[in-house]
Amino acid sequence: MTRQDQLRALPGVDELARSVQLPLPHTLVVAEARALLDGCRELIRRGETLAEDPRTALERRLKALLEPSLRRVINATGVILHTNLGRAPLPDFPAPAGYSNLEYDLETGRRGKRDVHAAALLERLLGAPGIVVNNNAAAVFLALHELAAGGEVIVSRGELIEIGDGFRIPEIMARSGARLVEVGTTNRTRIDDYRHAITSDTRLLLRVHPSNFVIQGFTGRPSIEELCLLGRERGIPVYEDLGSGCLADLSPHGVHEPLPQASLRAGASLVSFSGDKLLGGPQAGILAGKHEIVQRLRRNPMFRALRVDKLIYAALESALRLTLLEKWDELPVLRMIRLSPDEIAARARALAGEINAAGALHAELLHGDSLLGGGSTPGQALPTCLLAITPGAAQLERKLRAHEPPIIARIDEDRLLLDLRTVDPADDAVLLAAFCGAGA
Ligand SMILES: *Cc1c(COP(=O)(O)O)cnc(C)c1O
Repeated sequence: MTRQDQLRALPGVDELARSVQLPLPHTLVVAEARALLDGCRELIRRGETLAEDPRTALERRLKALLEPSLRRVINATGVILHTNLGRAPLPDFPAPAGYSNLEYDLETGRRGKRDVHAAALLERLLGAPGIVVNNNAAAVFLALHELAAGGEVIVSRGELIEIGDGFRIPEIMARSGARLVEVGTTNRTRIDDYRHAITSDTRLLLRVHPSNFVIQGFTGRPSIEELCLLGRERGIPVYEDLGSGCLADLSPHGVHEPLPQASLRAGASLVSFSGDKLLGGPQAGILAGKHEIVQRLRRNPMFRALRVDKLIYAALESALRLTLLEKWDELPVLRMIRLSPDEIAARARALAGEINAAGALHAELLHGDSLLGGGSTPGQALPTCLLAITPGAAQLERKLRAHEPPIIARIDEDRLLLDLRTVDPADDAVLLAAFCGAGA
């Protein structure tokens, strides 16, 4: 067919719109049909062939509008805080669908403050008052803007980090109006480097947890205690951005992360961390520290711009309460970290047995590592038991991704690897059914 013939063969807008039978407003269907036909004509003019009949394409596009775009997936990658899969899986929490006492004091019947919903739990967990903003990047910005705009902030060269997706400490600093004063070298910074850099313009000593990389070898930086001592001597607040905000001591499980409450005890005036990393809650940034500093942050107009919604408070409150009550099994991130390789192996063995019995695929168990991910605990891995499936890994990976719910696994050479650490045990049966379907 010539291009002219191909263009003539396209249906008209109304004809195309009438071809679909979906419970959608007519104007929406017509607009979608028109946009689709424009796209088809453009492809034909460029000499490309249409991959799909316009009727099928329209139906597919409209059906997608009926479904949520944000969907549940099964994470079989073994990366616990998988940034692409929404970081921390949330604990159960009562979502406030209708009205709530978000800013209403039920005792006095007067206007209240939204931060009370996290305040009591934060204070008990951290031993200091805290407030919540949109994410930790916002927390860093707010802290620098309030405490150091127009002045200088001293930070070690080894801590000028990029977190990913464009969050760079020097850039946030520039936007906040604070001037960066770098001290030390990439691998070593001494307390005297800070001391010698202090001027009458110094507003803040900033310490940043290098959360997504490790420097090995000839390295060093002052402890938080040393830094706080210097800050006290010179009357300059110390602010530590901890990144992952691990509130529970996970060292018995092989995870070594600094605790915000320890930094505050050591004398830090302010700390900040994410809600959706090792805390296991929703996207949020938590700032906690000295009462007068937290008050200043709360009064900064940017706090209003960076505040969080009732949904976030509801989920965060739940994660904080489970932490305070040490109900680790109900907090998915903590439950996954605490799983032993033996527990994971037992589930993997059961699945492998059934997959092998079904006959179409071959499953075996391998030693491997789960990762914390999400820009926390670089170089720290949790030993796990992997399920390795052959043959046809690439095709299998695509099939699982198209499954409902989608199952995300990884490929290593010609094997498909699944790590059950990040899979809810209730979903093991879903995996098995998917494999039996995919192998057929
Ligand atoms: C992850 C991280 C951030 C950014 O936190 P978000 O909650 O993702 O905005 C900032 N600083 C450090 C040290 C981090 O690890």
